[in-house]
Amino acid sequence: MDWYGHTFAFKVRVDVEHVEAQRYIGDFRMTKVSVINLLDLLDEISVKLSFCVLGITAEFYPNLIAEVIEAGHEVYGHSMYHEPALAERPLTEQHHEMRRMREAIKNAGGIDVRGVGIPHHGMADENTLRAIVEVGIEYVESRFQAKNSVLPKWRSIDGTNLKVIVPGDQSRGASDYTDRRPYWAQVHEETFSPTNAKTKWMANIDWAKENGRMAQLVIHPWMLMVNPGEVKVIKDLLIYARDQGAWMATV
Ligand SMILES: [Zn+2]
Repeated sequence: MDWYGHTFAFKVRVDVEHVEAQRYIGDFRMTKVSVINLLDLLDEISVKLSFCVLGITAEFYPNLIAEVIEAGHEVYGHSMYHEPALAERPLTEQHHEMRRMREAIKNAGGIDVRGVGIPHHGMADENTLRAIVEVGIEYVESRFQAKNSVLPKWRSIDGTNLKVIVPGDQSRGASDYTDRRPYWAQVHEETFSPTNAKTKWMANIDWAKENGRMAQLVIHPWMLMVNPGEVKVIKDLLIYARDQGAWMATV
């Protein structure tokens, strides 16, 4: 498996979502502080990542999104509002979310997003996929994955002639976590442990290297402000992946 000239891949998705900062820290402006700090860190170690941006955050902080793009990072969508979860909502509402998200990010950063990462651990349904494709998006990260595939694949959308690209299911992924988020989609999260997180996330990178696969990690900038030790873990991990020869995967 050739990952753009590398033997394995590491994909880090950065969720930019001020509504989550507001909800769990009580200060929506923490998103700006934490994203700028993260951009500085990434600049220092010369690593480019993929930023999964909420439409309403792009609308609220257009300059911030422009700065992410200007720094050379990838930007794609994370829905418009984040709440409520998309699955089981009417097609018209899902359409509205995706159209508004695309417009907001375009207005902020001048780009047409080609992918979307679905919030709430990927809670999407067939209507989500349909809404995404009908507004011109090609790729979706959600609970839908291509079975037994390392690479992304086209997936047919039920009840339509449409297709969307979904990731393969042969990667290993993780996400940062925090006890600030107690009601998170039926998952009970613990207090962030730098030691445990580093051990677990590094093991995923080692696994990817040994098997020529992709390891993934989702991080939340606002958690970098409330989880003691997470900034250093992320920095060490990115340097480790880069030094081990990972392709820092884009969407
Ligand atoms: Zn999110």
